[in-house]
Amino acid sequence: MHPEAESGAGFSPGPVLLIGPPGVGKGTQAKVLMQLYGIPQISTGDLLRSNRDQHTELGKTAETLMSQGKLVPDDLVNQMVAERLAASDCAHGYILDGFPRTLAQADWLDSFLLQTASQPLAVLNLVVDHDVLLKRITGRRISPAGRIYNIYTQPPRVAGVCDFDGSTLTQRTDDTEPAFEKRMREFTEKTGPAIEHYRISGRFAQIDGMASIDDVSGNLRACLHRLREAR
Ligand code: AMP
Repeated sequence: MHPEAESGAGFSPGPVLLIGPPGVGKGTQAKVLMQLYGIPQISTGDLLRSNRDQHTELGKTAETLMSQGKLVPDDLVNQMVAERLAASDCAHGYILDGFPRTLAQADWLDSFLLQTASQPLAVLNLVVDHDVLLKRITGRRISPAGRIYNIYTQPPRVAGVCDFDGSTLTQRTDDTEPAFEKRMREFTEKTGPAIEHYRISGRFAQIDGMASIDDVSGNLRACLHRLREAR
């Protein structure tokens, strides 16, 4: 691997997009890159869940759509992202996770980046087989502190209880099989065109997300460094 990709030292990642279907590992990998490069993860799903939990107007609008696996309207999400990206911790780069999810969001982001970013967006597209995604999503359990388990592949020592702090694990309301299938249809119909937009026009790399977490993150880092070196 590129020596800088090992440590993250002396490397300016700029704006990075992790894109792929639900359960592909965007959140997990975003956290690895965040630690390595010291830049924030901007997850629109997390931002919307936090709005929902705080009962904001946006949260109330988003709640039903999210639990049904449907997308929240573009203009609401774009506005939320614009506000988040204006914060000072985004000055040296950030990892977008779950945004853009439609071509209209991608177009909006293109113009936003033209005005604000010193580097072009680096797009890392993760891919995983459908049946593996289904197991990852329906088996996912989360602790209040955000620790993620999977009842099939990474179960806690005691069922339903976090190994670290003994808290109760819960399942996201949209991690059921019907909501997953709806999310996959939304992904294919709406996010697919956004991925094609980046494949033909941007700094784009596709990475196999079926390997171990460490191998996937090594490949992501190597691709990111290659994309940043390209003229
Ligand atoms: P996630 O945590 O990324 O799986 O997102 C959970 C849910 O939040 C999605 O199924 C959508 O309902 C909503 N959501 C997250 N990001 C977006 C986005 N960029 N555009 C529209 N809806 C979104």
